[in-house]
Amino acid sequence: MELSARQLLILEMIKESGPITSSAIAGRLNLSRAALRSDLAILTSSGLAEAKPKVGYYFTGKNPKMISPALFDDLQVKTIHSPPIVIHGTKSVYEAIVTMFREDVGTIFVVSEEDGLDGVLSRKDLIKAAMGNHNITELPVSVAMTRMPNIIFTTPDETVLNAAKKLLTHQIDALPVVVPLPTASGSVYRVVGRFTKTNLTRLFVQLAEE
Ligand code: ADP
Repeated sequence: MELSARQLLILEMIKESGPITSSAIAGRLNLSRAALRSDLAILTSSGLAEAKPKVGYYFTGKNPKMISPALFDDLQVKTIHSPPIVIHGTKSVYEAIVTMFREDVGTIFVVSEEDGLDGVLSRKDLIKAAMGNHNITELPVSVAMTRMPNIIFTTPDETVLNAAKKLLTHQIDALPVVVPLPTASGSVYRVVGRFTKTNLTRLFVQLAEE
C-alpha cells in the first residue's frame, strides 16, 4: 500500500493536531468532508489512524513504512538468504541424512562435479529412501532427489515477495538461490544460497520489532 500525497498530508495533520475532526481537516485543506472520506477510510483501514466518535482522528503510532508492502518492492533475496548446504550426487543417502542433522537444515541441494545444481533433497525424500529397505550407505542421493529441470529456484536479485510466492505456490520449504554458470557442456546453475521459510519468519519478526 502506497499513500498518496494528500493522504500523507492528512496523516501529518493527524499526527500533529490529533485528535482532529474530519471537518477540521477538511477546513484546513479547503475541501468538503465528502471529498476526504476515502482518504480517511484508507488511513483507518491501514491502521495508521483511528477515529473516535465525537472526538476525531488520532495517530496510532505506526509508521507507514512498517505496514507498507511497498517495502517489499525493493527487498531482494540476496539481503536475507542463508548459505547453501550442498552434497555431491555420488554421495549416499546415509551421508545426506548425516549432513542434514549436522548442518541442522531441512533441505539439501545436490550438485554436480562442476558445482551445477542437479537436485533437491528434502526430509521426506530421505525418510522415503530410508523406509524402502535399501542399504542407504550404498544408495546414491541421486535416486532420492527431485531433479532438474523440475527444480524451482530463485536468484539473488529476485524480490523476496516473488520468491516467497514460489514457496507457497509449490508448497515447498526452500529454494536454491542460483546464478548462471557457463560451462563447456552448456549453462548450469551454481548454487549461492538457500532461501527458506525461516528467512521469511526472521524478516517478519525483524520488521515487527523495528
Ligand atoms: P518435506 O519433504 O520436508 O515436506 P518440502 O515440502 O520442501 O519438504 O519438499 C516436498 C517435495 O518437494 C520433496 O520431494 C522435495 O524434493 C521437493 N522440493 C523441495 N524443494 C524443492 C524445490 N525448490 N524445487 C522443486 N522441488 C522441491
